[in-house]
Amino acid sequence: MLKRLEIVGFKSFAKKTALEFGSATTAIVGPNGSGKSNVAEAFRFALGEQSMKSMRGKRAEDLIWGGSHMVPRANRAAVTIVFSNTPVGGNRPFKIDFDEVAIERAVFRDGTSEYSINGSRVRLRDIEELLAGANIGETGHHIISQGEADRILLASPRDRRAMLEDALGLKLFEFKKQEAIRKLEKTDENITEVNALRREISPHLRFLEKQVEKLERADGLRVELTSLAQTYFAIEDCYLAHTKETNAAAKHAATERLAVASAELASIEERVTTDAEGIKRLDHVRKAEREVERLNGEREQLAREIGRVEGALAAAKERSQKVAREPYAKVPREDLATLAKEVEKQIAEATTPEAIRATLSAVGDLIKLFVSRFVAPTDDLLAEEEREAYALGNQHTELLAKEKALAGELEEARSALSRAREALTAHDETGREMRRRILELAQTKAHEEGVLAACSAKERELELLAGELDRAKAEAATLAGMAAVTYEPLTALPEEDRHVQEERKRALDRIEIRLEEAGGTGEDVRQEYVETKQREAFLANELEDLAKSAASLRTLIDDLDEELAKHFSDGLAKVNASFSEYFALMFGGGGARLALEAEEEPEEDEEEMLGEPKEKARPGIEIAVNLPKKKVRSLMQLSGGERALTSIALIFAMSQVNPPPFLILDETDAALDEANSRRYGDMIDNLAKRSQLIVITHNRETMSRASILYGVTMGNDGVSKLLSVKFDEAVQVAK
Ligand code: ATP
Repeated sequence: MLKRLEIVGFKSFAKKTALEFGSATTAIVGPNGSGKSNVAEAFRFALGEQSMKSMRGKRAEDLIWGGSHMVPRANRAAVTIVFSNTPVGGNRPFKIDFDEVAIERAVFRDGTSEYSINGSRVRLRDIEELLAGANIGETGHHIISQGEADRILLASPRDRRAMLEDALGLKLFEFKKQEAIRKLEKTDENITEVNALRREISPHLRFLEKQVEKLERADGLRVELTSLAQTYFAIEDCYLAHTKETNAAAKHAATERLAVASAELASIEERVTTDAEGIKRLDHVRKAEREVERLNGEREQLAREIGRVEGALAAAKERSQKVAREPYAKVPREDLATLAKEVEKQIAEATTPEAIRATLSAVGDLIKLFVSRFVAPTDDLLAEEEREAYALGNQHTELLAKEKALAGELEEARSALSRAREALTAHDETGREMRRRILELAQTKAHEEGVLAACSAKERELELLAGELDRAKAEAATLAGMAAVTYEPLTALPEEDRHVQEERKRALDRIEIRLEEAGGTGEDVRQEYVETKQREAFLANELEDLAKSAASLRTLIDDLDEELAKHFSDGLAKVNASFSEYFALMFGGGGARLALEAEEEPEEDEEEMLGEPKEKARPGIEIAVNLPKKKVRSLMQLSGGERALTSIALIFAMSQVNPPPFLILDETDAALDEANSRRYGDMIDNLAKRSQLIVITHNRETMSRASILYGVTMGNDGVSKLLSVKFDEAVQVAK
């Protein structure tokens, strides 16, 4: 599946050079310094190698053709590896939908690298993922550089583990796991954020909840008020109408009886006088009667005046109580509306921050003005109401005094009248019977006048009650709406004591006071409560979703860990089996194995950071060898050749278990003697069944195993040149 390598401007390959690869082993041969290793490094470079050291350079410039006296330097080095990507057993080796995959990397003198896949610019990470998916890992176990054959022997246990994981194709799990960990971190951040938002909202929500509870209690009070008011007003209406009617009837009857008595008295008096003295006495009686009548009339008028003053007094007292209880109630409604309109207008006109600032101060002034006009004078208003009530009280007292005086005068006039009558009857001859009747009639008249006065007083009282009732209705309607004053009139009074109704009135007053304290209907508060509650519910929901996705990410991470662990231990067992086999083959006996380092005890304070999935330090890999006929255990004690053999055995074992698509061996065979070269060649043949091999070699035996041979030469211009050669030529070229 490795098809072609194209190099231009990379190291000694100044000119565009292409290597075609077949299915089996390709050998690259040539004299020292001709540029063979540069080919291996071209592979590393194109696959995304970041370590300059492993490409024998210090800076990016070292990778670019530096120029010679014959060929000018290049500004760009580029290497393209072309793989075939036709499906094998239904699956494409690379997870993209092309039959060929060309991975290219270019580097410029300023050190920047450009990557592309099939001509489209990509990130390094895209290349890494694509390669990992095709089992071409980044630790470079599939490219064994010159002298680096025992790199895996020299590596630390941890690095060795990384190489093994890479060789086993576990990088893809590792990528997925890192991705899941990143997502989990992001999710945890979001959870923290949402929690902070909820904490922010919570006190405000609690405040609104309390407000709304209060408003709901007020709603309850309104309902209570409405039903009580309906009952009270219906009964009161009925009571007033009924009492008025009874009173009017009584008044009417008394008026009639008075008229009858007056008429009879007048006719008797008419009859009893005929002489001059008699006429004079009758005249006295008439005069006295007129005086009584006048005084009666005056008293009527006074009574009406007293009624009016008493009504005004009651209303004034009520008003001043209300001002004291609720100062704003006195603010005229239309003024409030005007203020609201003015504020709205100012706000609508403000668009820039400056304008908004100006508006805020204007609105502030408006409110101050309003307060000074309507709210501050509450005390003045209260004083005024009290003064009015006081004046009315004085007037009332005066009127009562007048009434008392008038009652005295009336008493006087009445006794004058009866004296005049007595004088009249005494002069008359008609006798005792007549006198008795006159007296009787006079008494009747006085009685009926008394009844009439009582009726008038009652009328007065009823008018007062009617005024009070009107005010009570207005109050109830303001606090609980029109429903409180909308009811079916009663046809008859309920059979109950009057004080039941009075108790109702007191209950009404109590509810009204509580309602006034509760304030308005609070529509804006209710609205804000609903919105805030919805937001809170939204956040709670989001938190739940986040918690769910965090949990599933944790599960995913655990699963990936488990899978990684399982694949790793399976892979390790397989590698060990092959390793031991190859080792025994190379050394003609003995054995070798990879073992996990003894796990270190995790330190106390490092344990379980609340919910965070903690990367467990995975044990590294140790290598144990057992040479035949020698008591050598440590790698340090091996000879150069033995080290080479051991590392070759391990590299081959790893490649065997999870064959990489290709394997580049740069003079891995350098230290082998003839016998081992043959064994090495056998292993290469074996390995070539599973992976494409590219061997850079001076070794005849190795060359003989290759089916394609490239010779690399370098002329006076310092430029590496490539040519296809036959075996015999290769042996020549390699010298
Ligand atoms: P050996 O058989 O001794 O290992 P080799 O064939 O592997 O040799 P290389 O190490 O691949 O040889 O080639 C090194 C050659 O490449 C040297 O001649 C070196 O001068 C040349 N070279 C390295 N970097 C550049 C560069 N940036 N520009 C020009 N030439 C370079």
